[in-house]
Amino acid sequence: MTYLITGGAGFIGSHLTEKLLDLGHEVICLDNLSTGHRMNVEKFKNARFRFIEADVTTPIKFDGKIDVLFHFASPASPPDYFRLPVETLLAGSQGTYNALNLALENDAVFFLSSTSEIYGDPTISPQKEDLCGNVNPIWPRSVYEVSKRFAESITMTYHRKTGLKTRIVRIFNTYGPNMRIDDGRSIPNFIKFALSGEDITIYGDGRQTRSFCYIDDVTQAFILLSQTDYNYPLNIGNPEEISILDLARTIIDITGSKSDISFQNPLDDDPKIRKPDISMAQKILGWQPNVCLKEGLEKTVAAFKKKLRG
Ligand code: NAD
Ligand code: UDP
Repeated sequence: MTYLITGGAGFIGSHLTEKLLDLGHEVICLDNLSTGHRMNVEKFKNARFRFIEADVTTPIKFDGKIDVLFHFASPASPPDYFRLPVETLLAGSQGTYNALNLALENDAVFFLSSTSEIYGDPTISPQKEDLCGNVNPIWPRSVYEVSKRFAESITMTYHRKTGLKTRIVRIFNTYGPNMRIDDGRSIPNFIKFALSGEDITIYGDGRQTRSFCYIDDVTQAFILLSQTDYNYPLNIGNPEEISILDLARTIIDITGSKSDISFQNPLDDDPKIRKPDISMAQKILGWQPNVCLKEGLEKTVAAFKKKLRG
C-alpha cells in the first residue's frame, strides 16, 4: 500500500514511516521542516520512500495513488505553537482541508492526528471521548486546541457529506527517540538538563499531572486503527498518570544526575490534570500500551545520549 504522511519528518511521523517501511509499504513524507528535522527522514535509504518538502497550507500536489493519508503536520510542542501561533491555526484548518481533499481525490483513508488538548483544562478525570472539554477560544493555548477542534469538525463533516473513510485519534502525551532535544516539551527538557547537570525547571508547583505513552505503543495503535472502519475520535495514550515533579525526579534517578529542581511561574492556561480513558481503544482495537514509563524513559535517555555524542 502507499501511505502519505504529512508532518512525516517530525517525531511521530518519522516513527510511523519506519514502521510502515518495515511492513513493506511505500511511504511519502510531506513536510515543511518547520518543527521537524531532515535528519529524521534522511536515514530512510529505501526505494519505497520519498520526501517532499512542502507546506500543507498550500494545495497539495501529488501524482500517484495514495491508499492512506496520515495528517500529522502541525506544531505540537507548546513552545513551538506559541512561537508559530498563526501557522498552527492554519495547519489545523487550511492544512486539514487540503489534506482531506487529497484523500478524497484518491479515495484514500484519511487519518487525523488530533490531541488530548481537545479537552483543554479538564474538569473530569480520566478523560473519555464523550467529554466536550474546557477550552477558552481566546487564551494563548487555543491556537493549538481550536485548530485541532476545527480539524476534527471538518473531518467528521467530510465523512458525513462525502462518505470519505476517516479516522481520528486523540493522542495523549507521547515521547521517545526522534523528539528534538530542544523542542521544549517536559521529557526532552528534563533529559537535556539532567544529562548536562543544569537545574531542571518546573513551571508551577509541579503538582500538575500528565500521562506519557511510549511512541511504539502509539504507532502500533495507529496501524490497528487504520485497518478498522471506526470513524469516531479515539483516545490513544497510557493511563499511567504522574505529577511533573515526580517525572523530574524519575529522570534524575534514571540518568544518575546531580541536577537540582527549580520552580518558575506556571505557564498560561497549563492544564492541571490529564489522563486518558482508553476503554474504547481497548474495545475497538484490542490494544493497550505495553511499555511502562520507566522502561520508555530508559530507552529515550539512551537515544538522546547517542544523539548528543553525535
Ligand atoms: P513534531 O513537531 O515533531 O512534528 C510535526 C511535523 O509537522 C514537523 O515535522 C513539522 O515540520 C511539520 N509541519 C508543521 N506544520 C507544517 C505545515 N504547515 N506543512 C507541512 N509540514 C508541517 O510533532 P509530533 O509530536 O510528531 O506531532 C505530530 C502530530 O501529532 C501533530 O499533529 C500533533 O498535534 C499530534 N500530537 C502529538 C502529541 C505528542 O505528544 N507528540 C500529542 C497529541 C497530538
Ligand atoms: N513543563 C515544565 N518544565 C519544562 C517543560 C514543561 O514544568 O521544562 C511542564 C508544563 O508546564 C506542563 C507539563 O510539564 O505542565 C507537560 O508539558 P509538555 O510540554 O511536555 O506537554 P503538554 O503541556 O503539551 O501536555
